[in-house]
Amino acid sequence: MTIQQISSFAAGEWIAPGEGARNIASAVTGEVIATAGNNGLDVQGMLDYARNVGGPALRKLTFHQRAKMLKALAQHLGQNKQVMYDLSFNTGATQSDHLIDIDGGIGTMFVFASKGRRDMPDGHVYLDGDVEQLSRNGTFLGQHICTPLRGVAVHINAFNFPVWGMLEKLAPTLLAGVPAIVKPATNSCYVTELCVRLMLESGILPTGALQLVSGGLGDMLDHLTMQDVVSFTGSADTALKLRSNPVILENSVRFVAEQDSLNCSVLGVDAEPGTPEFDLFVKEVQREMTTKAGQKCTAIRRIIAPETHVQAVIEALSARLEKTVIGDPKLETTRMGALVSNSQKRDVLEKAAIIGQEAERVFGNPDVFDVDGADGDKGAFLPPMLFHCANPDTAKRVHDTEAFGPVSTIMGYRDTDHAIELANKGQGSLVASVITRDADVARSFALGAGAFHGRLYFNNRDSMKESTGHGSPLPHMVHGGPGRAGGGEEMGGVRGVKHYMQRTATQGSPDLLTAIGSKWVPGATEIKGPAHPFTRRFNDLAIGETLHTEPRTITIDDIQHFADFTGDTFYAHTDEAAAKRNPFFPGRVAHGYLLLSFAAGLFVEPNEGPVLANTGLDGLRFMKPVVAGDSIKVRLTVKSKTKRNDQYGEVRWHVTLTQQDDELVAEYELLTMVAY
Ligand code: NAP
Repeated sequence: MTIQQISSFAAGEWIAPGEGARNIASAVTGEVIATAGNNGLDVQGMLDYARNVGGPALRKLTFHQRAKMLKALAQHLGQNKQVMYDLSFNTGATQSDHLIDIDGGIGTMFVFASKGRRDMPDGHVYLDGDVEQLSRNGTFLGQHICTPLRGVAVHINAFNFPVWGMLEKLAPTLLAGVPAIVKPATNSCYVTELCVRLMLESGILPTGALQLVSGGLGDMLDHLTMQDVVSFTGSADTALKLRSNPVILENSVRFVAEQDSLNCSVLGVDAEPGTPEFDLFVKEVQREMTTKAGQKCTAIRRIIAPETHVQAVIEALSARLEKTVIGDPKLETTRMGALVSNSQKRDVLEKAAIIGQEAERVFGNPDVFDVDGADGDKGAFLPPMLFHCANPDTAKRVHDTEAFGPVSTIMGYRDTDHAIELANKGQGSLVASVITRDADVARSFALGAGAFHGRLYFNNRDSMKESTGHGSPLPHMVHGGPGRAGGGEEMGGVRGVKHYMQRTATQGSPDLLTAIGSKWVPGATEIKGPAHPFTRRFNDLAIGETLHTEPRTITIDDIQHFADFTGDTFYAHTDEAAAKRNPFFPGRVAHGYLLLSFAAGLFVEPNEGPVLANTGLDGLRFMKPVVAGDSIKVRLTVKSKTKRNDQYGEVRWHVTLTQQDDELVAEYELLTMVAY
């Protein structure tokens, strides 16, 4: 059997393993299948290449161009996933594990591609929040902006998800406009290397945007600056060691850590045996214990059930675990494959022994279990093991020992407050699930356990069919947790992208802020266009182009007519005496919607033209009531423009309605689709 040489990709060259290379064994057979690592890697050269070649190339692209690049990459990987599946069986993963790692990673990239186009501008500056009014007359304003860091993101990943673990960090990094150097865990780096090769060979990425270290990182961390980011996933011990690096501390290098955690799942007091919630709970726990052979950072390590139902849970869970077929991950009948390596297996057994000092093993015997289609003595196989801790209040190790394998401990609680106390004994976790239909239980957990968890997952019969699973981090939602879990936050849509950008508070005049953000700020210079703006095409319209309309006087007949016509005969529009008794109105007032309709009548250009559709209004506020005899006029300004497809883009207009004394009556943003 040939031993695969797993290379690194450094400064545009594939570098084969060399001095210091480590052998990697198959999780299933225990045989050496690959070798990786090279002490001679020029880490400074890699950093320079990323900073001087990859960074500038990525920063030239807009957020939308980078999002399109991610979509193309995800499509390319999707077309080539079979080769990754084939290789990944060696890590002990089953086909359903591949769906989480490989398909999950590709799916995450798709979500970031779509978030980048929907939630970020087709420009180079991301505006974070609204304009802040810092002066009485609005000549001095504030705006937070985010721009890409000028350095490199060093991603250090754990062994359990060789593809997802890379892509969930790579997608937000590239979207931000920052190059990455990926260092996967050596045990499963051959799968990551294949995925990196596929991405590089696609030709979709700019030169220098992605490099790979297979094997040790050398002294790369000693060369980082304040413009770089380390994004680490792995054990708490390694995280502590790496984040204590003097260069990282001295240069305040950003360090995002996703560590191990003692996640729990809680059976609500209402979820008695016989309810759909009880069955759901048992099913979720069994799935979390056995998926990836329990090697999931979000796996359920602690099962917290009402004291009265502990025995029922043990019985139901044992019955399900009994049916979990362990064996060669390639077999379709296999439900749980192997751990990544025999050293990982030894580690899990050591940790299980520590848990065993405080809890009794009630299911699974690591010395006696069946393995289908593989040699159980050579591969890194283990059975699921369930422990029962009778004294969870005095126990310590069950709350702080992570056996990174198919190991979980059940413990009983007296009431909801006690369950929250036990959940929080994990000292900071990635996720806690609470299976309940009782709104009070859910609210108590949100308030009592929220501060200790990065994610709270509530599930019951109403949501179970569509729920995504206790253990699945989603690209839309924050993944990470406080304390023991590392204190990091990954993904979460644009929140994840911000790890790779600097947020800067900009302060200045409306004209300067408009120029910086490519978004018109009230108070900035208005541009008079050559014709009515609705006759102008998307590409011709300038940011700040403004139309002022003629005034229109509102009569009492208009108000009455609108009330009769629409059926909105609310007393403030129809009954003078009743309206006067209302603290907001001087008497009968015009309907807000009448004013909006008149505004459209004032600014619209009726003939067929480039404006294709009105797709909505944002931020509508009515500031001052309008009575019969008042007149209103409209100012319509191009606020921002976003390309949507090959034919048209969205133009966002800032609209104000003022009355005869120039006092503001209403303000909103109007959205239209305009042809190119
Ligand atoms: P690990 O031993 O801590 O290793 C993590 C990564 O750090 C690997 O890439 C490893 O490379 C690297 N590393 C170790 N020492 C290093 C050093 N001195 N300098 C630079 N890099 C170094 O963790 P693991 O065994 O791979 O993963 C299992 C752990 O990860 C579990 O505890 C699990 O809970 C945690 N995890 C957390 C999450 C999360 O999102 N929170 C996700 C997955 C896993 P080598 O492999 O080359 O040593």
